[in-house]
Amino acid sequence: MEKEQTFVLIKPDGVQRRIIGRIMQRFEDKGFSMVAMKMLIPNQELLQKHYEELMFKPFFPCLICYMLSGPVIAMIWQGKDVVRQIRSMLGEGRNPLEQKPGTVRGDYALELQRNLIHGSDSCESAQKEINLWFNLKEIVDWKPSDLNWVCE
Ligand code: UDP
Repeated sequence: MEKEQTFVLIKPDGVQRRIIGRIMQRFEDKGFSMVAMKMLIPNQELLQKHYEELMFKPFFPCLICYMLSGPVIAMIWQGKDVVRQIRSMLGEGRNPLEQKPGTVRGDYALELQRNLIHGSDSCESAQKEINLWFNLKEIVDWKPSDLNWVCE
């Protein structure tokens, strides 16, 4: 499924620490294509919907506060097995101290909350998150010219 899509969010700490480019480079290098991107300061309503499953967790207010603290980069990445691959490239476990070097969280983060990046955890949540953060007009339908050299 070369058209599989996932939602990726570089959180406020990733923007403030100027590592947007280094994170995106990893996904491009792997062979994935970005099909939408925007910078925004998310509002509370959007964040509450995005994190609705965590609403009753004790860290929820703190998480919303952190996510409101500055601009974020919202993106859609596309490619073969992209949901699972990007989760593993960002360092899937919550705690950055337990992530392997070579993952985004393993290389750049130390804290449970300030872990730089979000990636959808399943195709179903990817679709839900894409619909929440983007409208159809913002998604570009394009095919990279080297795709046949990346995928068989
Ligand atoms: N988080 C936190 N404290 C915790 C667990 C999570 O502040 O004890 C934050 C952290 O930024 C995490 C986000 O809440 O990325 C969402 O948690 P989730 O369980 O969805 O983890 P993720 O899918 O981002 O790894």
